[in-house]
Amino acid sequence: MSGTDNKESDIQELKQQLQQEKEKNNFLCRVSLATTLDDLLLLLSEWVGKRAEVDGYYINLLDSEGDNLVCEKISLPKKFVGVEKTYLKYKYPLNKPDANVESFKNNEVIKIDAGNVGDYGGNTETRFNRWELFSLVAIPMVVDGAPIGNITIMNQWYELAEKDISEISDYINDFAPQIKNAHTYTEMEKMKKSFETAKREQRLFLEFISKVNSLTSVESIYDIFTQELLRRYSFDMSGIVMEECGKLVSKKNTILNEEFTEIHKSWVEYYKNNSYDIELNDGATAAAYIQNSHIIIRDVLEILNLPMSEKDKKALEIMRTPRTFLFVPITQQGKPIGVLWLFSLKETVNITDEDLAVIDLLCSFLGTSIANAELYGKVEDQNKEIDTLNKSLEQKVLELHELATKDRLTGLFNFGYFQEELQRRINEYKRCKGEKFFSLIIVDIDHFKRFNDTYGHLGGNIALKDVASRILSQAREMDLVCRYGGEEFVVVLPKCNLEGARNFAERVRKNVEETPVKTDTVDVPVTISIGCSSYIPEETASSFIGRADEALYRAKENGRNRVELAHDELET
Ligand code: GH3
Ligand code: MG
Ligand code: MG
Repeated sequence: MSGTDNKESDIQELKQQLQQEKEKNNFLCRVSLATTLDDLLLLLSEWVGKRAEVDGYYINLLDSEGDNLVCEKISLPKKFVGVEKTYLKYKYPLNKPDANVESFKNNEVIKIDAGNVGDYGGNTETRFNRWELFSLVAIPMVVDGAPIGNITIMNQWYELAEKDISEISDYINDFAPQIKNAHTYTEMEKMKKSFETAKREQRLFLEFISKVNSLTSVESIYDIFTQELLRRYSFDMSGIVMEECGKLVSKKNTILNEEFTEIHKSWVEYYKNNSYDIELNDGATAAAYIQNSHIIIRDVLEILNLPMSEKDKKALEIMRTPRTFLFVPITQQGKPIGVLWLFSLKETVNITDEDLAVIDLLCSFLGTSIANAELYGKVEDQNKEIDTLNKSLEQKVLELHELATKDRLTGLFNFGYFQEELQRRINEYKRCKGEKFFSLIIVDIDHFKRFNDTYGHLGGNIALKDVASRILSQAREMDLVCRYGGEEFVVVLPKCNLEGARNFAERVRKNVEETPVKTDTVDVPVTISIGCSSYIPEETASSFIGRADEALYRAKENGRNRVELAHDELET
């Protein structure tokens, strides 16, 4: 080889290097302009994919928890393109043997062929064989000496050349810082989203709590509570069982999905007539209650062959395809008062320990809410009872007042009441100088002894009632009509002078005279005599009455069936 040839080939090589450098710069320029993880991975995969020696590849990145490598991009040999989707987002746990994981953890390139594939765990071997590979190379992706993921390239026909591997490795590591940034950003976005969802959940949860707190009926608490639990967790049916007279009685069963309407119906029907004894061998409900701790059966299918109580067997039968069961004691100040049921009727439900802790707490909250509502109910009942008592007491007071102030035979006010009332009015008269006058009349039935003697005491009573009602019929609203005693009546006439009193007395006298009293047997004419007096300032009640009485005496003297007026001066 001549020196010129040497130079020629050197120049040729330099040109090629320059071209490569240019391409690389070009590429890195595009990389630096890419902003999202998707764009970056696309660029990277384009670049890796267009290399003739690479039949397929996949790019894995460490997840935000740092537990798994997650496949973010994949391209398989033509024959297997159809299963690419299955491997996208595939997780390689860092604690399980795998070639990707090894390369990542040890920050080293791992070359695999048929000879050593068995050293990297069953999964690597399965993939190697399934994709009919000849060579598989896992290359770590590193930023500042720390791996952030890896890229694995594959060839179906020959061993991947050292040169290709180191070139890809170099390129990738130029790429890695930007991928790391974009990945962190994407993960942060995801976290932000889940944080927002959590915030929304929290708000809904607080709303639920305050709603339950404001409920005052136990039934609506059962309702809202069983619904909320179905909304929060992926169970299909929720129920509440409460202790009542030494039994656990089903109180509420809720479903949200109409698919389970039939099961729900049979379930409710069955528990109408069935309750649990508080004994350990009566099933999981009783056991959760007695032990005061939740019982979870993650998959009923796994325990179907184990011995169980008759009631549980029947319950499983009703549920048709029961899967995950949760029994949580409902507590009040730490003591069980019932049990919450959460059942899935088709798929198993993944309930974490944190979920369980929250449900436990919710059930103690439920217990307190029920206690509050019951207390509220009791207080309401007591208030109603007190109300009724108060009303009947008021009625009694009225009746007593009636009894104390009214005359039984005629229904008029009695003598006692008259005395009190007259004194009250006199006092008022003295206080309010504006009041000009008021009067009273005393009515006495003429020859009533004779009436009694002729028509009997009962006949006499009829006459007394009749005369009383006639006086009443002539009186105004404000007048006070009383039975004074025996066959005598007194009427206090406010805002009425002596002349007015006489007019009133005359009306009453005429009314009685004109229409005979109807006894049981015959109609008997009756007459009355009346004495009137008008109040003289400063006089006493007895003087006021005495003057009317004196006038009445004169009416008798002067022949009865007449009205006489009192002298309007005080006797000295
Ligand atoms: P005068 O015309 O002078 O008033 O004669 P009088 O017979 O009406 O008077 P006297 O005072 O002698 O008799 C009143 C009678 O009224 C006597 C009593 O038996 C009767 N008397 C009093 N209270 C009742 C009552 O509640 N029922 C009945 N049936 N009679 C009564
Ligand atoms: Mg008399
Ligand atoms: Mg009389």
